Amino acid sequence: MDEKNTAESSEQVVIFEEKITKVNGEVGIKRYQRGKFLGKGGFAKCYEATNLETKKVLAAKIIAKSSLTKNRARQKLISEIKIHKSLQNTNIVQFEHVFEDHENVYILLELCSNQTLNELIKRRKRLTEIEVQCYVAQIINSLKYLHASNVIHRDLKLGNLFLNKSMELKLGDFGLATKLEFEGEKKRTICGTPNYIAPEVLDGKVGHSFEVDVWSLGVMIYAMLIGKPPFETPDVKTTYRKIRLNSYTFPEHVLISDSAKNLITRILNLDPVKRPTLDEIMSHPFMNTGGSIPKTLPLSTLACPPSAS
Ligand code: ADP
Repeated sequence: MDEKNTAESSEQVVIFEEKITKVNGEVGIKRYQRGKFLGKGGFAKCYEATNLETKKVLAAKIIAKSSLTKNRARQKLISEIKIHKSLQNTNIVQFEHVFEDHENVYILLELCSNQTLNELIKRRKRLTEIEVQCYVAQIINSLKYLHASNVIHRDLKLGNLFLNKSMELKLGDFGLATKLEFEGEKKRTICGTPNYIAPEVLDGKVGHSFEVDVWSLGVMIYAMLIGKPPFETPDVKTTYRKIRLNSYTFPEHVLISDSAKNLITRILNLDPVKRPTLDEIMSHPFMNTGGSIPKTLPLSTLACPPSAS
């Protein structure tokens, strides 16, 4: 199960192999060819990978075991794999397979070749309301499934919303997710990404639950429409203070509808029980503006707004 480097002319072909034991006891080998570099996370490097038998192209998250010396990091990875493996939904990055060799852990995932909504916003600056409605409907579909499975994502942000080649939205990165074991259980661990973190997570004493994902959804709706998250400041402490005070404004130079403002304001409520449920968000006027919401958006919207038709 070693990663082989074969120098072929100027290009380097990297193959990684998985040893498998068949039912009859024979040992077989599955080979994957490493392709394009997709991105780097806290521990993982992500590449395209082709299963050389089936020719299926996947995303391979490769985590060096040398980066997992701390117990906490190992536990986090084990939990991420356990939770992600158990999930199956059109709007969640499909977990395909996991294996390891001496050096690395390889997580094979459904490939999302059109990057994340974070890169999209950087390119487009901000999105139109119809696009936001389309993405919100897909996010809500993934969250309804997740919450019904008793899983809280806890790290919802534009960088964890992937787009596949058909422009379907896929929620990914379950590194901070947690599964509640009993009704009404509250979590206390402080986690999340500064700009998107809910106020009750910052105040670790009160405990938090599914409503933290609803808060982050509100932050994402704001960020998609305005172009940056509502509580963004140059330093984390100031951002946390603004979150605790619920201090944000709608900039005058960006035109957004009253229904969009109303929905964001309702979601960004400091009191988690006063936030709308996922069903209430779907029936809010912002999500019901008359015309039907498209299931997916055209590829052209990766670069420019959809044509008004
Ligand atoms: P970490 O959990 O270590 O932060 P990530 O899950 O953030 O790692 O992955 C790192 C990067 O790899 C992402 O920012 C993204 O660019 C890319 N990536 C992750 N999963 C996929 C995927 N399924 N398809 C395409 N690119 C992906």
